Amino acid sequence: MKKILLSTDNKNKLKEIREILKDLDVEILAKSDVEGLDFEVVEDADTLYGNALKKAEAIAEKVDIAVLADDTGLFVNALNGDPGVHSARYASEHDDAKNREKLLNNLKDKEDRSAYFKTQIVLIDSKKNIIPIEGVCEGEIIEEERGDNGFGYDSIFMPKGYDKTFAEMNSEEKNAISHRSRALVNLKKMLEEM
Ligand code: IMP
Repeated sequence: MKKILLSTDNKNKLKEIREILKDLDVEILAKSDVEGLDFEVVEDADTLYGNALKKAEAIAEKVDIAVLADDTGLFVNALNGDPGVHSARYASEHDDAKNREKLLNNLKDKEDRSAYFKTQIVLIDSKKNIIPIEGVCEGEIIEEERGDNGFGYDSIFMPKGYDKTFAEMNSEEKNAISHRSRALVNLKKMLEEM
């Protein structure tokens, strides 16, 4: 069985990736499953790819198995791609409500409310090849929050072709179309071909 070590201990991410890759002969390990990886990587790159690569490389240099790291951002076209790579700390570090409020304020006078979420995955295989994989979900930022599910910008993001925000969807509905699940499905296709 192949092993892939995630650069995170986030339970939701672990669950989602295990679910999507369940038919493959791959064991997904959390960072805490391996000794000596109890360190944080500063995410200070100016692209999602840069951050994902930094997280993956920090671990890949300490282990012999494949390593996977990801970074996600919300890119708003009328704001030149902001909050983008700074999505988690747009207004204030990991304060989702303040981040949403800042985004709605900055978009107040803008006609174009189109936006997309992007998840960038970097897989470093056991031979230390660097393999980038992406997933995108397009949509728009609505004017007021709707829905109580989810996290981050879910309550103000309405995916294209739907009249519900991510926060009005259950996790099954969101996972069918989200940037993160699309990136993981692309990862699965790539692993099937390897
Ligand atoms: P991370 O790279 O997965 O930690 O995501 C960075 C930031 O992007 C999070 O702190 C959230 O603000 C935002 N974000 C990522 N994924 C989602 C999502 O599925 N819905 C809403 N916000 C998200």
